[in-house]
Amino acid sequence: MKKVVKFGGSSLASAKQFKKVADIIKSDKSRRYMVPSAPGKRNDKDEKVTDMLYACYDAASEGRSYKKILENIKSRYTEIIDGLNLNLNLDHEFQRIEENFLAKAGRDYAASRGEYLNGIVAANYLGFEFIDAAEVIFFDEHGNFDAEATNCELEERLKNVERVVIPGFYGSKQDGSIKTFSRGGSDITGSIVARAIHADMYENWTDVSGFLVTDPRIIHDPEVIETITYKELRELSYMGASVLHEDAIFPVRREGIPINIRNTNRPEDKGTLIVESTCRKPRHTITGIAGKKGFCSINIEKAMMNAEVGFGRKVLSVFEQSGISFEHMPSGIDTMTIYVHQSEFEEHEQSVIAGIHRAVEPDTVELESDLALVAVVGRGMRSNRGTAGRIFSALAHARVNIKMIDQGSSEWNIIIGVKNDDFETAIKAIYDIFVTAEL
Ligand code: ASP
Repeated sequence: MKKVVKFGGSSLASAKQFKKVADIIKSDKSRRYMVPSAPGKRNDKDEKVTDMLYACYDAASEGRSYKKILENIKSRYTEIIDGLNLNLNLDHEFQRIEENFLAKAGRDYAASRGEYLNGIVAANYLGFEFIDAAEVIFFDEHGNFDAEATNCELEERLKNVERVVIPGFYGSKQDGSIKTFSRGGSDITGSIVARAIHADMYENWTDVSGFLVTDPRIIHDPEVIETITYKELRELSYMGASVLHEDAIFPVRREGIPINIRNTNRPEDKGTLIVESTCRKPRHTITGIAGKKGFCSINIEKAMMNAEVGFGRKVLSVFEQSGISFEHMPSGIDTMTIYVHQSEFEEHEQSVIAGIHRAVEPDTVELESDLALVAVVGRGMRSNRGTAGRIFSALAHARVNIKMIDQGSSEWNIIIGVKNDDFETAIKAIYDIFVTAEL
């Protein structure tokens, strides 16, 4: 058995957390490949080392005073190193970092040092080999991740390595400069390493016991999802559920490697298992509910629209020309509605309306803003009568007006448009009918 274990920032924020991590790794011999984040927050008021590094670099590269921030970053590592009684000194590393900051090595370089240094500390503490991610994770000249070059190099490098730490979040471009993934990107590194070594499992250790059925800011203490498929997860992450970086699914998915989300502070909890497909029945008809606010709809009406070949294409090309991607497109006989992100649409609003008039000569174009989309996702919904009926009657009882309904042909995802103000009420009503009522 081979497992890749990725630990998030809060799992490695202090010496105390590092000790928990070591216990977890030592309790299972197959946990041989470790991917660390940078030290995260130790409490609500604390700062993440990554954010401190960005601030420090910005100050240094703009000629402002940066020494104090650099000292604070240093002391985060010293606290960990001393707390673990390690014989390790990072002075020369910090000296080089400072020189590179002053030479304007870039914000990505700056941010990546959090993971780099934490990787050195973790390797020293665990007695694992250290491989700098810059040597094995590659980006092309446009800054896009180069999956194939990375996979080849990693496979080769890890062939004869027993136990290794590879820092998360960054890699290098062909010119040797450092490039990071987007924030939270250590999850992606873990997934890439899991693919390269053909892992049996990718364990992603964080500070929650798995994916929750819905947002805990809306439902107090929601249930944990035991098993979820990649596809369900993709929908839920896209619609706002955030435990795992949404791009972290792709490398392991290619190999059918399951991901297990686990809690460093409660290692006895099983967490959430993310799999390609499963015979395990979901506990409830639905697997999860997620959603986002901040959409607007563009409602287009034209008599005899249904008979006009190419109408939809012409309308969509107006959005394409303005670089706006659309989310949903419900249509009627003589009406068509496009849902877009309000923030993306606002600055192009008038030119899009004018463009639609020119392209299809509609009778009317109306806008409605401040809308939210709620996604109800679940493989158990498929071929199951009455799910939509239950959702809609729950919303009717909660006095939520439904603006839009969209069920893809896959039948495991229903998207509902409501007013922003009804967003929380809608999620509560759906959670109650499917989870609370089924307990
Ligand atoms: N440290 C980086 C961040 O704060 C990357 C990560 O933690 O995955 O976004």
